Amino acid sequence: MMRKKIRAVLFGPQGCGKGTQGQLLADRFDIPLVGAGDLFRAEISARSQLGKLAKSYVERGALAPDELVNAVIASQLKKVDLARGFILDGYPRNVEQATYLDRIMKVNLAVYIKITDKEAVRRLQGRRQCKRCKFTYHLTDAPPAKSNQCSICGGPLIKRADDTEDIIRQRLAAFHFMTEPLVSYYRQQGVLLPINGEQSIPYVFEDMIKKMAKLGFQS
Ligand SMILES: [Zn+2]
Repeated sequence: MMRKKIRAVLFGPQGCGKGTQGQLLADRFDIPLVGAGDLFRAEISARSQLGKLAKSYVERGALAPDELVNAVIASQLKKVDLARGFILDGYPRNVEQATYLDRIMKVNLAVYIKITDKEAVRRLQGRRQCKRCKFTYHLTDAPPAKSNQCSICGGPLIKRADDTEDIIRQRLAAFHFMTEPLVSYYRQQGVLLPINGEQSIPYVFEDMIKKMAKLGFQS
């Protein structure tokens, strides 16, 4: 039997664990996980006209307009081997971008990993990163063996400057306003797969795999 090809997007609020789940999915199905941030960096290092424009936004820390983001994604997606399928992470971020993506490459699965704002704040506030090797811990969910010390390299653990409650709440508000409308957009397209992200990592993954199998995506 022919395997149904996956053309998926993955979205959810900060702290939902989509980066981890995306990587697990990519490994299980042996297809590329395409990060929007990586595509942006690739265009910038190619020093194209688009890349120069993109760089000016990144340097100012400003949000690039949809037309620019769409153009960068379209330009870079051509260079990725998508023949076996793909999982996109970090794009689309709003309905305009989703509409554009569907025109160049019709998405057939939109995984929405859902967690409450309360859980997102709890997860992000407890996050600590090794200053030296950048490995990430969580004070209660994934603590290091010795407090405040990296179990891998012994480096000091720090809280990222943008993991404060104020900034986390701002990012969540932006998600609700800008990205959450993707839920109804993809539901209308008949490709939405909502997943409860408030389970442990392996449970979220198994849940996702089971539901995908029912939709005809066999690993
Ligand atoms: Zn370390």
